[in-house]
Amino acid sequence: MRIIDKIYIDGAFVEPHGREWAPLFNPATEEQIGTVRLADAQDAERAVTAAKRAFPAFSTTTKAERIDMLKRLHAAVAARASDLVDAMREEYGAPSTFIDFAAPRAGNVFLDMANTLESYDFRRHIGRAEVEMRPSGVAVAITPWNSNYSFICGKLSAAIAAGATMVIKPSEMSAIQTQVVTECLHQAGLSKGVLNIVTGYGNVVGSALTAHRDVSKVTFTGSTATGRAIVHSAAATMKRVTMELGGKSPSIILDDADLDVAIPQVLSAGFLNSGQACIAGTRILVPEPMQGEIEARLKRAAMAFKVGDPADREVRVGPMVSRKQWERVQSYLRLGQEEGAILLTGGEGRPEGLDRGWFVRPTIFAGVRNDMRIAREEIFGPVLSVISYRDEDEAIRIANDTDYGLQAHVFSSDPDRAKRVADQIEAGRVIINGAPHEPLAPFGGFKQSGFGREFGVFGLEAFLEPRAVIR
Ligand code: NAD
Repeated sequence: MRIIDKIYIDGAFVEPHGREWAPLFNPATEEQIGTVRLADAQDAERAVTAAKRAFPAFSTTTKAERIDMLKRLHAAVAARASDLVDAMREEYGAPSTFIDFAAPRAGNVFLDMANTLESYDFRRHIGRAEVEMRPSGVAVAITPWNSNYSFICGKLSAAIAAGATMVIKPSEMSAIQTQVVTECLHQAGLSKGVLNIVTGYGNVVGSALTAHRDVSKVTFTGSTATGRAIVHSAAATMKRVTMELGGKSPSIILDDADLDVAIPQVLSAGFLNSGQACIAGTRILVPEPMQGEIEARLKRAAMAFKVGDPADREVRVGPMVSRKQWERVQSYLRLGQEEGAILLTGGEGRPEGLDRGWFVRPTIFAGVRNDMRIAREEIFGPVLSVISYRDEDEAIRIANDTDYGLQAHVFSSDPDRAKRVADQIEAGRVIINGAPHEPLAPFGGFKQSGFGREFGVFGLEAFLEPRAVIR
C-alpha cells in the first residue's frame, strides 16, 4: 500500500492541514493500492500565498535562466520515466499503446517549450508603443485523472516559460502519478514557491483556488460541466482562463480513402486510452455505398483488439478508471440498443474471462443517427458509433453537428480534397490520414470543447499579458 501523506508547498513536502483521506485503486484488479491525504481550502490558501511571494523575483528571471530551468525539468522527468509509466498503468490501467503515445510527449513538453522560448521575443514596437509581454501572475492548473502527469508537465512548462508561478490541483484519483512527478520537479530545483501542488477534491481545493483574488490565471483540463463551473467562479475576479474540455470527435472516411490505412487509424483513435481520452475519435463517418464493407472491416479489426491486463503489451484496451465510470459506460451500451443502433461488436457486460477489474467490451454501434444520445454525449469509454453519409457536404455537416470541436480525422487518397474537407471542420485540430504528432502546433477546442490553446507559442502566450508603454 502506498501512503501519500504530503502536499508540496513553497519548495517542500509538507503535512496538509486537510484531514480527509481518499483510497486509490488498481482498476485492473479492483484492489486498493494506496491512500492519499487530501489538501483543504486552508492548504489552497498556503499554496497561493507561496506562489504570490515567489512571483516578483521569478517574473524578472531572464529568458536564458528559464530555458535552463525547462531543460532541468525535462531531465528530471525523463530520469523517472519508467516510474511514471508504472504509475499510469497501476492507477488507471493505461494500456501500453497509450503509454507509448503519451509518456515520451509528457516530459518532452519542457524541451519543446525551451525551443519555443529560444525564438520568442517578449518585446516588440508598434508605432510609438513599446509592447512587453508580461507574465500573468499566479496561475492555477487543474488537471483530470487521465494522463494527469502529462497535463501537469504541459501546463507547468508554459507557466515557467512565461515567468508565472503556479499552484497545481491534480485529480485526487491519480495521486501516484502526481507524487512521482512532484518528486521529479522538486529535484530540478526551482526556487521556493514557483511551483506548489495540492491534491484534493475539486469542490474543496479546486473551487477555493478558482475563486481566490490573488490568482490571475486558471488553466483547466477536464469535463465540460466542471469547466463551466470554473468559468463562473473565475468570472468574479476576471481571471484569464484556458479551458481544455470534452469531445465527440469525428473520423471522416472519404470514398477514396485507402481503407488499409484508415481502418487501423480509426480504431486506434477511437479506442485511444481505452476510450478514456478527450480526443478519442468516437464518431466514424462512412460513405453510404461503402458502409457494408467498412463495417465488416471495422468489426474484424475491433474483435482482434485484446482487452485485459494493461501490463500485457499485446493489450489494446485496459479497464475503466473506476466502478462509477464502468457503470456509466454500461448505461450507454444499454442506451445505444434502446435508441435503435445495431451492435456490430461488443456490448453490455464484462469481456469473457475477465471477472475482476473494470473492463468493458470494445464496442461499435452501426446504423447510428447523429441525433442519438450515443452520438452526442461524451461516453469516455471504448464505444464507437458508425454514421453513414450521402456526400461530402453531408459528411462535413454531420461532423460539425455537435456541441464539441476538439479534434477530427479525415481519410482520403487525394491530399487536396482532404485539405478542402479539413478546412471546413469546426475543431481545434484536424489530422489527415493519421499524420504524426506536431508538438508545437496549438491544441484546444472550438465550441464547448473549450477555449484558449496549449503548446508552442500559443501555449506560452496564454500565460502572458501585453503591456504597452507609449512615449
Ligand atoms: P472532471 O471535470 O470531473 O475533473 C477534472 C478536475 O477538476 C479534477 O481535478 C477535479 O477534482 C476538478 N474539479 C471538479 N470540480 C471542480 C470545481 N467545482 N472547481 C474546481 N475544480 C474542480 O474530469 P475528469 O473525470 O477528471 O476527466 C475526464 C474529463 O476530462 C473528460 O470530459 C475529458 O474529455 C476531459 N479531458 C479533456 C482534455 C483536453 O485536453 N481537452 C484532456 C483530457 C481530459
